[in-house]
Amino acid sequence: MIIQALLARQKRRGGYLTSADLHEVASEQAVPLHRIQSLISFYPYFRTQPPPKLEVHICRDMSCHLKGSVVLTEQVQKWTAQEYGQQVEVCGVSCLGRCDRAPAALLNEQLYVGRNASQLRQVISAYMQGDPLPTDSDLAWSKHNVQPWDMDIYSGSSNYDTIRHYLKSPDPQDVISALETAGLLGMGGAGGRAFKKWSEVQEAIGTEKFVVCNADESEPGTFKDREILLTKPYLTIEGMILAGLVVGARQGWVYVRHEYTEQIASLRTEIHRARQLGVLGHNLLDSGRSFELEIFVSPGNYICGEQTALIEAMENNRAEPRIRPPELVTNGYRNQPTLLSNVETFAWVPAIMNRSKGQWYADQGRKQGPWVGGEADKMRGKRLFSISGDVRHPGVYEVETGISLGELIDQHCGGMAEGKQIIAVALSGPSGGLVPAKIPLELLSRRFVETCGKKGTTEFDIRELPLDINISRAIGLMIGGGIVVYGTGANVIAEAVACSRFFSRESCGKCVPCRIGSQKITYIGEQLLRGELSKAELPVLRETTRELSQVMTATSICGLGQVASNPVRSLFDYFPKLVDQACEVHTKKQ
Ligand code: SF4
Repeated sequence: MIIQALLARQKRRGGYLTSADLHEVASEQAVPLHRIQSLISFYPYFRTQPPPKLEVHICRDMSCHLKGSVVLTEQVQKWTAQEYGQQVEVCGVSCLGRCDRAPAALLNEQLYVGRNASQLRQVISAYMQGDPLPTDSDLAWSKHNVQPWDMDIYSGSSNYDTIRHYLKSPDPQDVISALETAGLLGMGGAGGRAFKKWSEVQEAIGTEKFVVCNADESEPGTFKDREILLTKPYLTIEGMILAGLVVGARQGWVYVRHEYTEQIASLRTEIHRARQLGVLGHNLLDSGRSFELEIFVSPGNYICGEQTALIEAMENNRAEPRIRPPELVTNGYRNQPTLLSNVETFAWVPAIMNRSKGQWYADQGRKQGPWVGGEADKMRGKRLFSISGDVRHPGVYEVETGISLGELIDQHCGGMAEGKQIIAVALSGPSGGLVPAKIPLELLSRRFVETCGKKGTTEFDIRELPLDINISRAIGLMIGGGIVVYGTGANVIAEAVACSRFFSRESCGKCVPCRIGSQKITYIGEQLLRGELSKAELPVLRETTRELSQVMTATSICGLGQVASNPVRSLFDYFPKLVDQACEVHTKKQ
């Protein structure tokens, strides 16, 4: 485990690695030095210089951006440079997963959320004079803000009933059938059918099999897995153990982002408890079956959440996505069959197995609505949404699949903040771009308009959108686990450009269309934002954006490159008046 060895050594050294450290790790792990250098240069968490006395990392994405985090960063940079010089390093970073308490910051890796410039100044000044750094707790926040979930059949502490029951009469097909009855979909974004993946890994041939939980949750706007790991890690662990028993794996890992420190502690405690209960480790409950589980702390950036990049990181390589096929179900970790799923997907398994073998879950989805070609019939189950931005109570909510966006905002989030109206929504973090409150019907799929378009209307009210992956796809929109709502007063072009910058920064650079295309498309958005484009240039730019987007979607290796053009493209598609206005300003100046 080269990466874990480097992480441990960096921690011992006090936040950086010396040249001697790199040589020693290379020698201990019996690998050439260039292998170590390739990792150090890829993962931003590794440092080769001593850190300053204070590192201030402020999130610059989506909800934090909306709450002014970029201006905040510039203010803090300015006065700390004047007062403390190089003793304090202030920089923007990608999403920290605390969008519900924006703006989020880390001060020497300690969480500090929802504060303004003067509050940050106080804390930093006090620390530089010798006071300890304060820290905000996810757990304290969660206790007061997260409602009970049906997912949690144990209400706070698991006895691992699913594992006990399974080991008495093991029947892999019974579990796979229950997942099929439930209609459980992968909650990591792609929305594949869980039963199919379990079944494929079970049938795959390999000398070993593995189970991996993707807890790298780095998509801006998404923080639901953070809550599961923090307060209900036993659900995910139980789902993973059962998965191991069903597919024939003896080893699993939870791959978790390093900024989730409380969550890592919570997982460690629960793994220890599960071992003591005899449901994890060697010879589970004297059954002769074994399953071990470890935590892999990610050193990484956003791309580590891409499933094949994650496996590359676990194999001590640079986290560059693989070309598929072959798929992970047959050629995953160490080229062996690997079941890799998201935290929430595993966490639903105990409820599905304990409540009428999947039927309870299947019955949960909304069925009403004239949705496309019978798509409503497929709305099954419940799921978690993280929602933030201009809503009164941002947070993580468990809702029935197919609940409308308007219901989620009004009934769960207490409505819009400060009496604002929706002007734009990001339905899948930055990946789907931004859509307006009313979408002209001609921009949605023809099948949707023919089947569901209301007579006499020309626009679709985004509040009516059922939060269901199948329906949103049929309409032509993307839905993910993280929703960001932009209210009156938000600068939609600035927000879309911030999303585009996120992708261009996080591109791993392996393929040209993504590496160059994401920069070019961000540049177009930035020109628009700065009012540097005239109306005469608009048709060419619109066409260039469309072409770039098509090429990036068709030729990028992984999902990042395939969606990276969406934020800027969504401006041209859905906000033509704003784009026109931005260009008019420039034309008048001329
Ligand atoms: Fe890397 Fe982008 Fe290519 Fe994905 S699409 S492999 S992030 S360069």
